[in-house]
Amino acid sequence: MNNSITLLQKLADEHRLSLDEYQCLIDAYSPETARLAASLADNARREVFGNKVYIRGLIEVSSFCRCDCYYCGIRRSNKNCQRYRLTPEQILDCCREGWRLGFRTFVLQGGEGIFTADEVAGIVSQIKSEHPDCAVTLSLGEYTREDYAKMRVSGADRYLLRHETADPAHYAKLHPTAQSYDNRMRCLYDLKSLGYQVGCGFMVGSPYQTSYELAQDLEFIADFSPEMCGIGPFIPHRDTPFGDMPAGSAELCLYLLSLLRLIKPTLLLPATTALGTLLPNGRESGMLAGANVIMPNLSPKSERKKYSLYNNKLSDGDEAAENLEHLRRSIAAVGYEIVTDKGDAPV
Ligand code: SAH
Repeated sequence: MNNSITLLQKLADEHRLSLDEYQCLIDAYSPETARLAASLADNARREVFGNKVYIRGLIEVSSFCRCDCYYCGIRRSNKNCQRYRLTPEQILDCCREGWRLGFRTFVLQGGEGIFTADEVAGIVSQIKSEHPDCAVTLSLGEYTREDYAKMRVSGADRYLLRHETADPAHYAKLHPTAQSYDNRMRCLYDLKSLGYQVGCGFMVGSPYQTSYELAQDLEFIADFSPEMCGIGPFIPHRDTPFGDMPAGSAELCLYLLSLLRLIKPTLLLPATTALGTLLPNGRESGMLAGANVIMPNLSPKSERKKYSLYNNKLSDGDEAAENLEHLRRSIAAVGYEIVTDKGDAPV
């Protein structure tokens, strides 16, 4: 405990530790260490963001996917997945509804290789011309640099692409050989150099992950310095090769949110749906641990259940965009304020 107090304080002051020290801190996880990390993280976030929490309307644009990630329920080989693809008009309708509810960022997320870069660019420019006061975030997987450039020129502001794991050998255990760690990293660096606000991230407790891989994730994030970072516990999906693997720990995820806040106080850090799925009050606990973003589901109601990344994925209650008022009250009850704001990364 003494050593972990020293390390946490060092991280809060210097925003960086050695790989060994990160691993040491992760191994030192205990409810007491997590409490201290959360209070340091909360101080750090309040210095930058006060008590503001940003919301993003998440539109799950397609459950088709060309990839075959071993953990993911919408992987190509899952014959039981119900597939859909929204039309540009449906996506625009979601944005109109979201704008009315108070969202000023729309996140278009979906399976890979389903929309061409030209199609994405077309949709983005329509959203931006209807809602010039809004940010558009894309989370559509791997494309070429030219494709990312086209989407950026069309008006896309941000891109979320979780690196999934910063350890190449671990990456190879989570994905088939056709999907490479090197290309994933190439995408992240291309996105950054094209001027996107970039988000990376990883699952907590993914199969074969140890504190060593997690330490590498933290080190990668300190080096790469993304504007956003999405982390959530791994949750098995019955129709995947990892269907019988244990879920990750929500408590460890909360602790890692705090460490990420200390690594980069200006980070836009969501309390994710996976965290909310595993933990009652996951969003509130996430805020208290240092998160400052929530991404309610703005997809058409008829399709929400089909975007099934893992078992029992939450899409109702406070997870649903239309219940924003209730979410606003639950977040206010723990001392934070949901704002209607684009919520760009601080410069
Ligand atoms: N195709 C897009 C979006 C993928 S889904 C892309 O590649 O970015 C968004 C994220 O959900 C993934 O990056 C992954 O980290 C997470 N995810 C997928 N399956 C999961 C599972 N079983 N448990 C928890 N998170 C999962």
